[in-house]
Amino acid sequence: MNKKEIQDLKTLLSSPKKVVVIPHKNPDGDAMGASLGIYHFLKKGGHNVTVISPNDYPDFLKWMPGNEQVVNYDFYMPRATAFINNAEIIFTLDFNSLDRVEAMKEVLETATADFVMIDHHQQPDTYAKFTYSDVNMSSTCEMVYNFIDFLGMETLIDEDIATCLYAGIMTDTGSFRFPSTTSKTHRVIANLIDKGAKNADIHNAIYDTNTIGKLHLLGCALKNLVHIKELNTVYITLSRNELEKFSFKKGDTEGFVNYGLSLEGVKFAVIFIEDQQEDFIKISFRSKGNFSVNEFARKHFEGGGHINAAGGRSNLSMKDTIKKFKTLIEDYKNELK
Ligand code: 5GP
Ligand code: MN
Repeated sequence: MNKKEIQDLKTLLSSPKKVVVIPHKNPDGDAMGASLGIYHFLKKGGHNVTVISPNDYPDFLKWMPGNEQVVNYDFYMPRATAFINNAEIIFTLDFNSLDRVEAMKEVLETATADFVMIDHHQQPDTYAKFTYSDVNMSSTCEMVYNFIDFLGMETLIDEDIATCLYAGIMTDTGSFRFPSTTSKTHRVIANLIDKGAKNADIHNAIYDTNTIGKLHLLGCALKNLVHIKELNTVYITLSRNELEKFSFKKGDTEGFVNYGLSLEGVKFAVIFIEDQQEDFIKISFRSKGNFSVNEFARKHFEGGGHINAAGGRSNLSMKDTIKKFKTLIEDYKNELK
């Protein structure tokens, strides 16, 4: 974001505006943290702000301050649509293409508001008037902190804003351990703690609120894990029956794929999960090192993301998806060795 854009945004935000803030579909900690962080910040500036989530999200994110104000597009379509149509500014956070909001895409395409994109995914689209995109950032929440700082309003960050941003940085960095975590990330985190983010409480609210069903589902996932040793690859499957057996709730499989990566020497870990509502298989890809799962997901599974973390989908059966996957990775022998 250059100086002129920052100045233009400052001017735009210098009088009260009707603002809508949108995370991607199936929002994660970073998307919700960024959305609610911006929400509190803009409200403090006197704006009329509504966060609209394309669909529901896991219970372990519902403790965040401001959560009760979030409008779920899936449940309240006419109301959410009216907010979007009346908005003067729309922030889209933690996604790079309107495809990532799926059913909401159409209403966003006809909206007359000025769009502001803040995002760290690769290959951003160009729909926004103001784009702050940086693939080297740990998280969109770190970028929201920078964004507030660019505007010269860092002093406005209070406990609510700090709490939301801390939660998103923590979740997107795997608790500050992924390579995207920089010394700058840690400085931002330190500032957020100074501003009132309660690090231990936030960690507890997100990671230590498991249900017994979730832990048993994790046991099932680990049992299903397959190690393709010669390709340093691991994959996990979870069928619809298995999800039902362990009373699956949205978000229960979050982080499971990382267990694959924890196996010594593994460079590529994948989890295939049969969707409970729709007829497709949701896939999460993770890698260590140079193997780009963003490219792999884009090329073969209608997805994308980052170099080391991406998602995608398959419309084949589980059996055929695994067959396709196993055939595909043979072509990546050299990169995975
Ligand atoms: P996850 O596997 O945790 O759902 O997602 C990993 C990363 O890839 C996240 O940054 C997420 O936003 C992105 N991602 C997940 N699914 C998709 C997808 O279908 N398309 C694209 N472009 N990105 C995805
Ligand atoms: Mn993110």
